[in-house]
Amino acid sequence: MLESTGSASDSVSLYFHVPFCTHKCAYCHFYVIPDKDSFKLQYMEGLQLEWFRWLPVLKNKKIVSVYFGGGTPALLGAPAISKILSWIHSDLVFTTDNPEITLEANPENITKELMTEYASAGINRVSIGIQTLDPHLLKVLERLHSAQKALDAIWMTREAGIKNISVDLMYDLPGQTLDIWNRTLKEIQQLPITHLSLYNLTIEPHTLFFKQQEVLRKQLPDPDTSLQMYENAISVLAEGGLEQYEISAFARDGKWSQHNVGYWTARPFLGLGPSAFSYWDNKRFRNVANLSRYCKALLQGDSPIDFSEELSPEARRQELLAVQLRLLHGVDLALFQQKHGTISLGPLEQLQKEGLVLLSEGRARLTKRGVLFYDTVASELI
Ligand code: SF4
Repeated sequence: MLESTGSASDSVSLYFHVPFCTHKCAYCHFYVIPDKDSFKLQYMEGLQLEWFRWLPVLKNKKIVSVYFGGGTPALLGAPAISKILSWIHSDLVFTTDNPEITLEANPENITKELMTEYASAGINRVSIGIQTLDPHLLKVLERLHSAQKALDAIWMTREAGIKNISVDLMYDLPGQTLDIWNRTLKEIQQLPITHLSLYNLTIEPHTLFFKQQEVLRKQLPDPDTSLQMYENAISVLAEGGLEQYEISAFARDGKWSQHNVGYWTARPFLGLGPSAFSYWDNKRFRNVANLSRYCKALLQGDSPIDFSEELSPEARRQELLAVQLRLLHGVDLALFQQKHGTISLGPLEQLQKEGLVLLSEGRARLTKRGVLFYDTVASELI
């Protein structure tokens, strides 16, 4: 079902960053701009120019997945999404007849009619930003939807014929107790979702939370509670059939995120749109996080990339090993080395002694303890 060490070199993914939001959430550090028609027109013009820039290198590639992330891509409208997908369909080849095409949406924007339009445009997977089902915490995060609206959004998406539904959930929130967290988990695991991505809050610069951090940090769950929240998520979600397959991802009936598996296995991807990241030809690069500058560069025939880095082969291998270990089924070490070059087994053996990694039958995988303390594993490998 899924590649174990990356995909064939001609298989790639596409990511489109759609930066529009109706309001900026208190914790948000993404590049977002107000939802205005004039911005959308400008965006679509720039995006098409960027598409044509990349077309020659994409021509002999096969597309595994397409992901519309943001921002709130559901604000772009089905005709625009349909237009972007028509560029792909007319110019490129998909690896399967039914590639994964995901749209991120927020509950307050979802109606059955809108989701039906998106399904007709070609969207077959929706990722809904729920974050929490606690009314007070929704306010703290400055989310625009109620808990009931979040539940309705899931059902409306399903009624529109989109059965592959992922939700985002957050823990480590200011004032969040184990009781509150457990209630949200119990409600979530009973919903008709196929996938869940779990995030712990990080307070990032340039956010409202960053300005309020002195007060907020006092209200955050302590490290033991935070660990307990993570452990409870693993067990309560499993009771509801959502099995953990990656450090922060859970799926029902094997509906892993094909797009994200690419991130964890070094499948090349191109990110289009302002602030979008790419990983291509072993380089990481990012477009300028500003719509006007993004469009201006493209109109002048220039690249909108404003940051790029290329790791040494050894650093790249170690990083990839750490990232791929996030997948709970682990890494086939022979296959990994065949594809990416020789690695030293010393650090993995040391992690095995510490009880964080298990080396068996040619694979390295995280132990239960390794899952809970993945950050330690990653920092010892990279
Ligand atoms: S909806 Fe998402 S992208 Fe938009 S402001 Fe909130 S967290 Fe950021």
